[in-house]
Amino acid sequence: MRILEIITIDSPKAAILRRRAKAVRTISPRIQQLIDAMVETMRAYHGLGLAAPQVGEGVRVIVVEVGDRLLALVDPEIVAAEGEEVGEEGCLSIPGIVAEVKRATKVRVRALNRRGKRVTVDAVGLLARVLQHEIDHLDGILITDRVEDPSKIRVIAEPVQALS
Ligand code: ZN
Repeated sequence: MRILEIITIDSPKAAILRRRAKAVRTISPRIQQLIDAMVETMRAYHGLGLAAPQVGEGVRVIVVEVGDRLLALVDPEIVAAEGEEVGEEGCLSIPGIVAEVKRATKVRVRALNRRGKRVTVDAVGLLARVLQHEIDHLDGILITDRVEDPSKIRVIAEPVQALS
């Protein structure tokens, strides 16, 4: 088991959180190892998802686990989005806050899976929210960028379950 370090916004390596991650296109054994380590890390931190830049890798890879559904997606793209809802999100890269973020209720995501096969994921509710949160990380976007006014950001003393 390999638990990776989570890069937070106050880390010396924080710049990677603000960069657009690079497309992978071909799944190498290195990418598969990264996926496996990201799954272990997400579980160790009780996150619902994790994006590669959060562990210091500037590539378009995310992992998501909501309920009994585990997804590892490479080069994910939101190809359709529907509806709108506001919900509170935490982020492992921004400890100590939660923010009210507006997201699409339903999304369709196209990506490659761990074996390089093209997949389409239709998601609603929490799964859709987590996917949007993780894909934002690949574009250098954080939850604090998504809030319309600062009153939507709440400082928390207790750790909550972070989306990623
Ligand atoms: Zn996050």
